[in-house]
Amino acid sequence: MNEYDSNRLSDLVKKVGYQRTKDLENIDCYILNTCHIREKATEKVYHDIGRLKKIYKNKKKPAVFVTGCVAQAENDEMLDREPYIDAVVGPQSYQSIPKILQRLNKRKDKLNFTNFDVVKKFDKLNQIKNTDTKISSFVTIQEGCDKFCNFCVVPYTRGPEYSRSPLEIIQEVKDLISNGVVEVTLLGQNVNAYSHKKNGSIFKLSDLIFELENIKELKRIRYTTSHPKDMTSDLIKCHKISKKLAPFIHLPIQSGSNTILKSMNRKHTREEYLNIIKNLVAVRPEIKFSSDFIVGYPGETEKDFEDTLSLINNVKFVNSFSFIYNQRPGTPAFKLNPLKKEIQHNRLIILQNLLNNIQNNYNKNQIGKNKKVLIENKMKNQEKYFGRTDSFTPVVTENIDDKDIGKIINVRIKDCNKNTLFGVKENIDKEVAA
Ligand code: SF4
Repeated sequence: MNEYDSNRLSDLVKKVGYQRTKDLENIDCYILNTCHIREKATEKVYHDIGRLKKIYKNKKKPAVFVTGCVAQAENDEMLDREPYIDAVVGPQSYQSIPKILQRLNKRKDKLNFTNFDVVKKFDKLNQIKNTDTKISSFVTIQEGCDKFCNFCVVPYTRGPEYSRSPLEIIQEVKDLISNGVVEVTLLGQNVNAYSHKKNGSIFKLSDLIFELENIKELKRIRYTTSHPKDMTSDLIKCHKISKKLAPFIHLPIQSGSNTILKSMNRKHTREEYLNIIKNLVAVRPEIKFSSDFIVGYPGETEKDFEDTLSLINNVKFVNSFSFIYNQRPGTPAFKLNPLKKEIQHNRLIILQNLLNNIQNNYNKNQIGKNKKVLIENKMKNQEKYFGRTDSFTPVVTENIDDKDIGKIINVRIKDCNKNTLFGVKENIDKEVAA
């Protein structure tokens, strides 16, 4: 979502005469868009600002804004700790940045914009065309979270669940398509909690997907990140019926142990999670899954950890994110006693080895197969092209050219490594169906 937000921020500041640049040595304004999920990200903010201070030691200082969830969580504390920062702007207030930039020269005080103005934010963003031109682009449809998992800062930094109107979303997707986009990933902290009241009835994520797939030029639809609690029967059915919804879901579970899931306040059990997987496979046998895992959560026993490993073996996730539990100040889990670092590290290695083996085997099994790959871009300094299968696996393809960018083509897989498949275009003239 930060990638989407950064793109929208650069669309916003264009209105007041600013333009995104990679030339760090000649900037008027530095916007550091941050994530607060892990502790390291916060320290990185101060590190990045330190680097900037060195560059501008004998020059006029650029305006420095910290945006995103670190700004939301640490706001005044941040302004006190690092006087080089001019403003902190939370993720639901970044529509204020053009105004702040215009006023900046007249004011001397530090600015703190950390209200939850999500409605105002999207009102403002809807007036500005999304200029992203990537083949595969993000569209935020939902923000915030009402689930309050005990380890997570998101409900405090992004605020309560909010769903944009379908009309706004459809217009934004059409704008993106006019830029050349052919695949969209619908974004939300709890994307499948998407729920918008329309003419007295509720318009859900499945309704939105069916509306979007009527747009002829749109070839693929994805959504992320989902919560198991919101994996409702209409959405599962949508995976069966929709022609454009990709057969891949990122469905975080965090732990395979019911004891730990309860302690995390995840609001679902291992059995409920596995039942969702079973129902999705029943309607779409080729569907693939990825997940998030927290290893070494306070109180996690060897048996709890084994339960997570057995769940991984059961589902056979094709890729996943896994981390050692990271204490976040302000969350209920912060006061729990952490496990010994050594135990956490050992468990992470075991879990990642298992995930890697499964992913490796999956990729090896693709060798010799014909995959439908959406070609996204030419790779830097190479005569090869990057794309993804419908189940989100990266593919590097040879023997194609720029004309294939934006098309879904047949690729014969010749080789692989842990993360990527390598192949050549099959000699079929016509573009294949999504
Ligand atoms: S559902 Fe996701 S975003 Fe919400 S509190 Fe839990 S982990 Fe955080």
